[in-house]
Amino acid sequence: MKMNDYQLKAIKEQFKTLKEKSDFYSRKFETIDLDLILSEEDFKKLPFTWKGDLRDAYPLGLQAVPEEEVVRIHSSSGTTGTPVIIPYTRQDVEDWAVMFERCYQTAGVTPLDRVHITPGYGLWTAGIGFQAGAEKLGAMVVPMGPGNTNKQLQMMMDLKSTVLCATSSYALLLAEEIAKRGIGDKISLKKGVIGSERWGEKMRQRIASELGVQLYDIYGLTEIYGPGIGISCDEDCGMHIWDDYLYFEIVNPKTGETVQDGEIGELVITTLKKQGAPLIRYRTHDLTRFIPGDCACGCKYPRIDTILGRTDDMVKVKGVNIFPSQIDEMLTKIEGASSEYQVMIDHLDGKDILTLFVEQEDGFNKSALEENLKEAFKNSIGIDANIMVVSMGDLPRSEKKTTRVFDNRY
Ligand code: ZN
Repeated sequence: MKMNDYQLKAIKEQFKTLKEKSDFYSRKFETIDLDLILSEEDFKKLPFTWKGDLRDAYPLGLQAVPEEEVVRIHSSSGTTGTPVIIPYTRQDVEDWAVMFERCYQTAGVTPLDRVHITPGYGLWTAGIGFQAGAEKLGAMVVPMGPGNTNKQLQMMMDLKSTVLCATSSYALLLAEEIAKRGIGDKISLKKGVIGSERWGEKMRQRIASELGVQLYDIYGLTEIYGPGIGISCDEDCGMHIWDDYLYFEIVNPKTGETVQDGEIGELVITTLKKQGAPLIRYRTHDLTRFIPGDCACGCKYPRIDTILGRTDDMVKVKGVNIFPSQIDEMLTKIEGASSEYQVMIDHLDGKDILTLFVEQEDGFNKSALEENLKEAFKNSIGIDANIMVVSMGDLPRSEKKTTRVFDNRY
């Protein structure tokens, strides 16, 4: 997607003082004269910023403002090694809330809504981001945080929450619990704003139908503010992204070259206004594509597709690259298979073995389902898999992001 004049101007303005303010970029761009970056073409010659660079800057190496201007930090979860710490100025916190308010507005949330927030608070950017945006909008926030399903449901009934904010796996857990307890008629939810965890169409339909809500995908990452930098609209065809705060590129994850608009690649983000920790050409590892053309909803902000996977989710088995999104898609077409699955990859007797665990919907024949899944896997992914059909609810549900692929080979 072409860099617009506003974005180019913002980048040039930022570059005037970037090295002076940021030790991180003064080192990273040591041999580069940023005054010579005058066009989109010049910009695309700049090196990428990687998560590893950010980890190396732990704890506060990314800070690009004097101490007195930092009002808060957030940190990525750090499940794999050193976490990344991102400092925010008062303006950064405000800008994030403005973007998040825009997300709620895009989803049709109004000051009359009651917004039930289940993502975690604390170092994680999720809970507080959902809250700040809803407060800016003027809605009533119910700041639950994660866990304690009994209390979640009680508050949801008593306060008549109308908007549920959750990860897809927690939304599914709540939907299943509501169905199990037969309390659907006491729930007033109308909309679900669901974190950007990649999720299949089948899971989506189950949550939407069991909760009786319209769902919106919200996108973001801690390194770039947090959730709230993009969201899907009523047309449900990709997510609108806020290109007045951020510049987005999509590149071939292997070569780093820009792909054609509409082609799938890795999303790369540059902050245009971020003060506490500006990031230039940050590799998100999220796979998506630009959706060309205007959206029928009338919103002029550009769109990316729902996140199709992570570059690091891809596993190679028997020479074939497999993305979890392919398995999601395959399951959508198999009657009797639920949206929940896990993949185990092992290496036994010199051979890679892939086992797919799938939950079965009630009332289907198990061995017929296994046969169907085996054939569908071979046809759509291209290799043989062991299929293990399990009962509904046997696979773990998580309040955070669900891990579906376990590679036990190394
Ligand atoms: Zn739209």
